[in-house]
Amino acid sequence: MTDTPTPVRYKPKPHVETIGGRALKPSTLMMGHGYDPTLSEGALKPPIFLTSTFAFESAQAGKTFFEHITGKRTGPAEGLVYGRFNGPNQEILEDRLAVWDGADDALVFSSGMSAISTLLLALVSQNDVIVHSGPLYAATETLIARILSRFGIHYFDFPAGATRDEIDSVLERAKAKAEETGGKVALVYLESPANPTNALVDVEAVRAARDAAFTGDKKPAIAIDNTFLGPLWQQPIRQGAELVIYSLTKYAGGHSDLVAGGVCGDQPLVDLIRPMRNVIGTICDPNTAWMLLRSLETLELRMSRAGENAAKVCAFLKAHPKVEGLGYLGDIEDARQQDIYDRHCTGAGSTFSVFIKGGEAESFRFLDALKIAKLAVSLGGTETLASHPAAMTHLSVPQERKDALGITDNLVRISIGIEDPDDLIADFEQALEQV
Ligand SMILES: *Cc1c(COP(=O)(O)O)cnc(C)c1O
Repeated sequence: MTDTPTPVRYKPKPHVETIGGRALKPSTLMMGHGYDPTLSEGALKPPIFLTSTFAFESAQAGKTFFEHITGKRTGPAEGLVYGRFNGPNQEILEDRLAVWDGADDALVFSSGMSAISTLLLALVSQNDVIVHSGPLYAATETLIARILSRFGIHYFDFPAGATRDEIDSVLERAKAKAEETGGKVALVYLESPANPTNALVDVEAVRAARDAAFTGDKKPAIAIDNTFLGPLWQQPIRQGAELVIYSLTKYAGGHSDLVAGGVCGDQPLVDLIRPMRNVIGTICDPNTAWMLLRSLETLELRMSRAGENAAKVCAFLKAHPKVEGLGYLGDIEDARQQDIYDRHCTGAGSTFSVFIKGGEAESFRFLDALKIAKLAVSLGGTETLASHPAAMTHLSVPQERKDALGITDNLVRISIGIEDPDDLIADFEQALEQV
């Protein structure tokens, strides 16, 4: 006869969220929030759950879980059902992502664009009107102007730096359009800072304008793409936004080794977007979610170092005779933009524009001479990247729109990483000598 083994009881120290009534900071919470090691053999780190489906304890449990999936129940899921809806790695990631912005809840996606597409499909219907700031990330602009417009959805835009009066008048035009089409103004969609101009949107003014123009359940939600400064240097829920969007591919992922997206915000809105994600299957996969959990542990370290590096590099570039100017949030020349920055941001970021004296030829010589900085689009990684928007990301933008947005042939876009700052300055110095 063999002895029945005594079941091992895993009792790691419980994860804490407060000490002496004081809430712990996001950087501390990233090491444990949302994960219970007792559910995974005591593993300190969450295992990667590679499964497409989850076994129910009973038929009734299965029914209850499905009521959640189909939107009959709201709030946190009571159990897992199927890999297209959610999984343990994605749920932990969602809990941790929401912490940084002080949001009720979060959803993660297979890319920034799948996050944006899912949000738009969930909140906007035929005959509705979207009001957005401009410019937007090129694919977002394509989605609204060329794809959603095929389904009878209208849009109006205002420039990123718009004043309260300008925002008011665009909202009035959007309301008139919605009355004409029989739809509603469904969404105010912002992106700040705008790419590649770094122009900031006054989210507080947008919130005040929205609240003055609409009442009750007629109020369109305010969503903002916070990829460039979030979640460390800007938390727009504090300025009145209700949904915050991320390309997690950028600073949140931070190592240029994954593609993912996120949305966080008010519970009722997240609860409208989740069922759309369940239907169209835009959730991120467990491996990517696990990589992002690792990335979030160092988010503050990485972003802080990149921000400090960028300040040093920009101080060097600004004083250089071959540099015409900078588009850097740490060195704003416009008083209104500075006022928005002071009310909205806690850091200038590490992505900026540098205007080289000359045109495309001089800019290309500078780019080709760089030795540490890699020639690539994207941003927010550990390594410094440089690109030429007019010839690359914005190549297909018509010339007059490029002129209006200030996308000139001498504009070089730089995302500073976490290398040694003196090495970076030496690299920029030798590359500028080649111009
Ligand atoms: C990169 C980016 C996106 C799109 O994200 P993907 O992860 O590439 O789909 C959206 N908005 C901004 C501001 C971005 O920089």
